[in-house]
Amino acid sequence: LHGTYDDQNIFAKILRGEAPCVKLYEDEHVLSFMDIFPQSKGHTLVIPKEAARNLLEMSDAGAAEAIKRVKKVAKAVETALKPDGITIAQFNGAPAGQTVYHIHFHIIPRWEGQDIAG
Ligand code: 5GP
Repeated sequence: LHGTYDDQNIFAKILRGEAPCVKLYEDEHVLSFMDIFPQSKGHTLVIPKEAARNLLEMSDAGAAEAIKRVKKVAKAVETALKPDGITIAQFNGAPAGQTVYHIHFHIIPRWEGQDIAG
């Protein structure tokens, strides 16, 4: 919540093509790629292209477009992997668990019997 946007963060570099990613989807509003430390099989990130640290800093229009893409990617993950549930998460600030300061949404497939803490 504190601070200003740093365009040297890793997701900004990925958006600019300066760092690699395993891309799933891209359009004018978002880029989606696989999380490098997946919490489950198919853990995917959706990164709005707007330069904002967190959801609170995003424009309403950008946030609305982003959530449509989160839903689209979650449905693709559901079709591909047939999970029993999907966690969709988004952290704002270090005490909330944020480690990369470019707005992003987690899409984490879940299966019956899976330990969601691990
Ligand atoms: P946060 O805790 O900030 O919501 O989550 C950041 C996420 O980004 C973590 O799940 C972490 O594994 C992922 N991540 C961090 N660095 C990279 C990277 O360089 N590439 C990819 N694909 N994911 C990353």
